[in-house]
Amino acid sequence: MGKYQGTITHLRYDPVVSRNTKLLSAALLLLAAPAIAKPLEIYFVDVEGGQSTLVVSPSGQSLLIDAGYAGFGGRDAERIKTAAKAAGVGHIDYLLVTHYHSDHVGGVPNLLEVLHVTNVLDYGPSVDAGGTYPEDYAAAVSKIEAAKGTHKVVAPGDKIPVKGLDVTVVTAAGKHIDHALPGAGQPNEYCSGLEPRKEGSGDESGENPQAVGVVIELGKFRFGDFSDITWNKELALLCPDNKAGKLDLYLATHHGGLSSRAIWGLAPRVAIFNNGPSKGAEPAGWRLVKQSPGLEDVWQLHFALAGGSDANAADTFIANVDDDLGEYLKVTAEPTGAFTVTNHRNKFTRTYPAK
Ligand SMILES: [Zn+2]
Ligand SMILES: [Zn+2]
Repeated sequence: MGKYQGTITHLRYDPVVSRNTKLLSAALLLLAAPAIAKPLEIYFVDVEGGQSTLVVSPSGQSLLIDAGYAGFGGRDAERIKTAAKAAGVGHIDYLLVTHYHSDHVGGVPNLLEVLHVTNVLDYGPSVDAGGTYPEDYAAAVSKIEAAKGTHKVVAPGDKIPVKGLDVTVVTAAGKHIDHALPGAGQPNEYCSGLEPRKEGSGDESGENPQAVGVVIELGKFRFGDFSDITWNKELALLCPDNKAGKLDLYLATHHGGLSSRAIWGLAPRVAIFNNGPSKGAEPAGWRLVKQSPGLEDVWQLHFALAGGSDANAADTFIANVDDDLGEYLKVTAEPTGAFTVTNHRNKFTRTYPAK
C-alpha cells in the first residue's frame, strides 16, 4: 500500500508525465467544449425607403421581415439575395409580411424568383383590398404552398418559431399584446399628456395600423421592429405601461416618420432608420428618436435630403450617402446583450458592450 502511494506521488511530480497529462486534459477539453456559438446577425437591406430586414439566428435559420418594392428590375430581391449570401443563408425559413403597402410586400414575387421561402406569415387579408389578399401576393403565397411551404396568419402574442431565437408578435391586425412580455410592463413615464388621435383619421386608417410588429430576443439582447404602426398603436402598446419592454436595438417606426414620445420608454441604445433619400427620417421624426434618453447612436440606410446637416447622423453612420448604391447595415449580437453595428459601405463598425 505504502509503495503504491509512493508511485502515485512519483508520477505526480514527473515533469514528462505531468506535461503529457496536461496535453491530454487539453485535448479532452477541446472535445468536450461546445462549438463557439455564432452571433445573431441582422441585415438592414437598402430598399430605398421600404423595409427588408434579414434576421439570421445562431441556429442558421432565417427570418426575413418584408421584401421591399416590386419592379426596378428585381432590384430589392437582388439586394436581399446579396445579404443572404453574406450571411451564408441559402433560403428563407420564415418570411413575415408586416402589411400590404408596396414598400413592404411589393418585392415578394421577385424574392421568390431568387430565394426559396419555406413559410410565409402575415396579419390576414388586407383591410385595403376589401378583405382579400392583394393579387400578386396571393399568387406568391400559392407558389410557396405549391412547393410544400406553409402560410400562417399571426396574432399578438404568437411566437414565430425561429430556432435559437425568441420572436414574439406584439402587434397585428390592429391589435396588440394584452399582457406585457416577460420582464416588461413597467410604467412608461413618457406617456403623460399623450392623447390618442381620432380613430380612422389620417394615418390611423388603412394598412399601417394593421402592421405586424415583433420583438426578437437572444438572451439579454432585444430588438424591436414595429414596422409602420401608427401613433395610436404605439400608445396602445407602450402606454401607460410599456408592454414591449426595453430594447437594445430599435428600428425607427414607419421609417422614422413622426412617432409619439412613448417610444422613449423603449430606451433603445441604438436606432436604425430604414429611410430613403426622400422618404422617412423626416426631421421632426429623426429628432424625436435622437432625443430618446440613453440613445447612444443613430444609424441610417440613407442620408435624408430633408434633414440637411442637422437632422442626419454623421456620414460614417450612413450606409448610402450620395448614390443609390444598395449598401446595407449589419448588426451582430450576443446573448450577453453586446452587439456591433457595421456599415457595409465604409466598413465602419462600433461595438456596444453588454451592460
Ligand atoms: Zn413602409
Ligand atoms: Zn406602410
